[in-house]
Amino acid sequence: MEGDDRERLLATMPLHAITSTYGEAGLRDRFAFEIASWAEADRRRMQRALDRAARLHADDRRDREPYVNHLLRVAIRIISYYGVHDAEVICAALLHDAVEDHAADLAAGGGGADLAAGGGGAELTGGRADQQAALAVLAAEFGPRVAELVGVVTNPPYARDRDEDEQYREHVADGLRDNPWARVIKASDFTDNGVGLIHTTGPRLHRLAGKYAPLVPVLADLIARPDTPLDAAVKEHILAQLDRAAERFAAVRGDAARGRSLGMPELPEVETARRLIADLALGRRITGVDDADTFVCRPHSPGELRAALTGRTLTAAHRRGKTMWCETSGLDGSDLGPILGIHLGMSGRIVVTAPDGWVAEGGDPPGRDAEPRKAEWDRFTLEFADGGRLALFDKRRLGRIVLNPDLDRLGPDAAEVTTAEFRALITTGTIAVKARLLDQSKIAGVGNLLADEALWQAKVPPATPVSRLQRKDADRLYRAVRSVLASAAAKGGAHTGDVIAARRPGASCPRCGAEMVHGTVGGRSTWWCSREQAAWSPAPADSASRQPAARRKGIF
Ligand SMILES: [Zn+2]
Repeated sequence: MEGDDRERLLATMPLHAITSTYGEAGLRDRFAFEIASWAEADRRRMQRALDRAARLHADDRRDREPYVNHLLRVAIRIISYYGVHDAEVICAALLHDAVEDHAADLAAGGGGADLAAGGGGAELTGGRADQQAALAVLAAEFGPRVAELVGVVTNPPYARDRDEDEQYREHVADGLRDNPWARVIKASDFTDNGVGLIHTTGPRLHRLAGKYAPLVPVLADLIARPDTPLDAAVKEHILAQLDRAAERFAAVRGDAARGRSLGMPELPEVETARRLIADLALGRRITGVDDADTFVCRPHSPGELRAALTGRTLTAAHRRGKTMWCETSGLDGSDLGPILGIHLGMSGRIVVTAPDGWVAEGGDPPGRDAEPRKAEWDRFTLEFADGGRLALFDKRRLGRIVLNPDLDRLGPDAAEVTTAEFRALITTGTIAVKARLLDQSKIAGVGNLLADEALWQAKVPPATPVSRLQRKDADRLYRAVRSVLASAAAKGGAHTGDVIAARRPGASCPRCGAEMVHGTVGGRSTWWCSREQAAWSPAPADSASRQPAARRKGIF
């Protein structure tokens, strides 16, 4: 291939594809391409940072690849996908692990691989004095801002008497709170680690998932903040990736095998929450609103929801698909109040307390938060004049509360759509059938678990282009969706489906006994029977970025 062709090709390839096809050389070329039009001085500085990082990490491996690949991807992602044009941020991205892994080398003025004691990672973490000295070296070579950014994303030496993962998470949250640009580097680093997890196996995989999973909501919160210097579309992109990372971590940790639901609460769970509000919360006058959680209540500012809702009552609770909303009364008894949109996120529940203190819950099945509850897990609360309350309980903090949500973007409810409507909505276009089922703007209410269950019941391969579905396939799928919804509602949730327990490595199909296979369809973790759903199967496992990443079309 001619040099120019290769360059153009590299510029369009996903980073993991460059890595697997061209390795370090490809990533270096892509990096050079990304910075080619930058100012000469900036380019020199970034090239020096890359050289320095490459020397420091020369003997380090990250699984089976040179460590510098990771540093290159973190830097390229920030330039190319996050749209950042800031040489100091890129230098810090390239050097983000230099102090953590090689403080002593840096401090000694070295940086050659010959000085390294071998291996990478935490075991090489130097003492605090080494780290300070190393940061001073970086400040002298690349400027104080680069050193400051690297300092924020560097883990201090761990205190021996405390849990390392906990210290890690605390450090990340504290450091990033005060430094918006460091959040950008951490997001790219985290994305790379999250993607890397699929190439890791065995006990280490579980350990890493345990370490990173609790960080997802923390990072999501920081990224969504108004002072994070990224475009709104980029923030949405990162938040969607964090969603997927959370799902992947949950799968790795075997949450499904333990009978918990994975991903968002689905239609049956949301319906239990809606019914709970309709039965127990309507007509009670609102005297107080806790809307202090600006992440769950984004884009509203603190006090905005309180001002809008205090003095009113909830008058009706509605749901379409997984989206729920309440009507409210007018203040003077005449006009209507605002609509209160409630989204349960990944694991939210509605908790309604009666005047006498009796508590009822609806939404995601309890169990994943069996440990003692913390008050701050109530992310949004309505206090009623009668002494009771309604709370959105959401440990993972991925629910949303929004005034006057846009309901026009939702398709008809999956439990109410007719055969003819379903056939028309499901078979238009060429997208994979699973991605179409998940598209809430076409049909509202089918989430990841219900989609896998319905496709398995109907024996339809999840990656089948919808244009290839015959009428009888579409009708069989329609009946499967309806029966899966009814069964989930009766049994208490999407996690009760027949094939859900078999969504794990090594499991066999509960119907025919063939091996269950795993892959990514429509950007979501997908399991199917290798025998009965064999046609149109995507390559198992890490085909994530080759599929168009179907944005989750939630309403908020
Ligand atoms: Zn089977």
